Amino acid sequence: MLSGNTAVVTGASRGIGRAIALELASRGALVIINYNGSASRAEEVKAEIETNGGRAELFRCDVSDSGQCEAFIADVIEKHKKIDILVNNAGITRDGLLMKMTEEDFDRVLDVNLKGTFHTIRFVSRQMLRQKSGRIINMSSVVGIMGNAGQANYAASKAGVIGLTKAAARELASRGITVNAIAPGFIETEMTAVLSDRVKEATAAQIPMGTFGKPEDIAKTVAFLASEDARYITGQVIQVDGGMGI
Ligand code: NAP
Repeated sequence: MLSGNTAVVTGASRGIGRAIALELASRGALVIINYNGSASRAEEVKAEIETNGGRAELFRCDVSDSGQCEAFIADVIEKHKKIDILVNNAGITRDGLLMKMTEEDFDRVLDVNLKGTFHTIRFVSRQMLRQKSGRIINMSSVVGIMGNAGQANYAASKAGVIGLTKAAARELASRGITVNAIAPGFIETEMTAVLSDRVKEATAAQIPMGTFGKPEDIAKTVAFLASEDARYITGQVIQVDGGMGI
């Protein structure tokens, strides 16, 4: 159980982040739902948690903006005095073949997916160091391990998340803080719904288990890494991908 824990989940207004927020709240954590776009989707997640008897709060913050992240984390610490769990889930794609990819599309994906993860870890780890405890879970991707045509920016950002995870794990381990990454395969969310049937069929053919994953598959893994059962696991990348990355 995670009763008494405060968990920050970035990009929790929909998709995988929403499932993570619901799962952590169902295990007793107070969940801070971060979002960047319209508040309505995040409000729905908060309402769903509260209907189920859980506790949640909302905070709008563009994770690519260092100043906004600093204010976000400071606000959570001022209100709740601690942060036990940080889940860096916010992420975007801007796909395109390398030759045609604009510098702007490369930078924006790196700024949200990789620098966003850096910003929150930087501000949250100061508090976790004071607490001498904490769990940080970063969302990478199987694409960060295998690469993927048309996703040079995204693959680079997710490979970067793995390096960042391992470096942070080494820096923070002696202070009771674990840092791990999850590398999802193809999960059914709005991010993947936009892909063509041709791409979906080609991807399904690469998955030994033959089916796409669900946001709940990732949420359960996050809950495990956040739990006492995972106390001796750090610096790892757990692939939740139906065997896609074997
Ligand atoms: P999604 O449905 O597109 O949701 C993305 C979430 O990130 C939304 O809540 C969005 O909130 C938030 N977000 C985007 N930019 C943000 C920013 N600058 N600051 C704060 N929040 C921001 O995506 P998903 O499929 O659930 O993916 C979640 C994570 O898993 C991502 O890191 C993704 O790369 C990773 N992943 C997904 C898959 C997959 O197959 N779906 C596979 C591997 C890895 P707003 O709409 O409010 O901006």
